[in-house]
Amino acid sequence: MSAPSTNYAQALLRPEVAELPLYDPGADPEMVKARYALSSIIKLSNNENPLGVSPKVAQLLASKVDLLGRYPDPASRALHQQLATRLAVSPEQMIIGNGSENILELLCQAFLSAGDRVLTQSPCFSLHEIFPRMMGASVEKIPHDPAFGIDIPAWVAALQKPVKMLLISNPSNPVGGIFNRAQFWALIDATSPQTLIVMDEAYYEYAIHDADYPDALIELGAQKRPWIVLRTFSKAYALAGLRIGYGIASDSSIVDALHRVRTPYNINFLAQEAAKVALDDLVHLDQSVAYIESERQRLTILLREAGFFVAPSHTNFLFIDTQSDAGAVAQRLQEEGIIVKAWREAGYESFLRVSIGLTHENQRFIEGLMDCCQPLMVCPRRQHIGAMPMIEQP
Ligand SMILES: *Cc1c(COP(=O)(O)O)cnc(C)c1O
Repeated sequence: MSAPSTNYAQALLRPEVAELPLYDPGADPEMVKARYALSSIIKLSNNENPLGVSPKVAQLLASKVDLLGRYPDPASRALHQQLATRLAVSPEQMIIGNGSENILELLCQAFLSAGDRVLTQSPCFSLHEIFPRMMGASVEKIPHDPAFGIDIPAWVAALQKPVKMLLISNPSNPVGGIFNRAQFWALIDATSPQTLIVMDEAYYEYAIHDADYPDALIELGAQKRPWIVLRTFSKAYALAGLRIGYGIASDSSIVDALHRVRTPYNINFLAQEAAKVALDDLVHLDQSVAYIESERQRLTILLREAGFFVAPSHTNFLFIDTQSDAGAVAQRLQEEGIIVKAWREAGYESFLRVSIGLTHENQRFIEGLMDCCQPLMVCPRRQHIGAMPMIEQP
């Protein structure tokens, strides 16, 4: 049956929503598998932890299924307390969300009105643009410098005029780079105390070992100004499918504002239970982060030797310049069962964002990429693949 063609929404829609760019979740593995009659798929498009969940989480969830008939605790009390203790913050400063993207959405709903000015990075995490625009705010994106470093003078200039919300992903998605401590402070010092600072640290666990990386919670802790730091269980903790993240704010008034606009049971029961266990399994977390670090270094070297520009990354993904139409490259890879994300933002159409997978998955990706880009590159690349050192999977 074909869908009816009536468009009742058109005449009723808020103009902000009619013009909203769509979020691109990447290709669906089942569809790709069916379309090209493939036996397996390598999914490197969503920055997931290739090692999967902690075995302790898997064990716990099986034992909790009996309780699914009950509503979850609307305050996520146990997890809330556990997190506040771990982070040494007051529980009143903290909020848990249905993924950190839920908190981003609540922040925009509670604080942004039509005409407000929001600053974020370019290229940017698309929800940092979509949610503010949904509220009618205008989003200005500050580009990285040509080497994908932070362009502090550009930020300082943009911060001269009033800004309602500063929305930064540190490390950056999709670039993978960071505001180092000096750059972080140059940014904060240039920001008015009337601006709400939102530091999205979705990849915090991958970056924190770098001595130059500013832990925003520690850096902003003593600041007398409004701020919130967002973190998630989706990336290094490998709970993306359960949807759970959290925010720590300057004070309880920010958190109270978010509670006004959230739905009461937004954190599902299994997510609360799993997060408590995941938080305590430091062995699995360390293993995941160590694996990503070594694999990221290996892949970056290989790709650079092959002549590709790869932005320096502090995350579990790489931002790679194919020097050609990245959409066409991603399509060719997809036909071989390898799903990566071609970046669609204006000015970055030659870039792929590729999550770091298991060693054999990364190997297939690199081989596939070399095959696609071979005619365009000058230096021979196949020989590097042959010499590729294999790293033991933890
Ligand atoms: C993945 C990601 C998120 C969303 O994480 P969830 O907790 O799964 O909602 C938020 N911000 C950035 C920059 C991300 O890359």
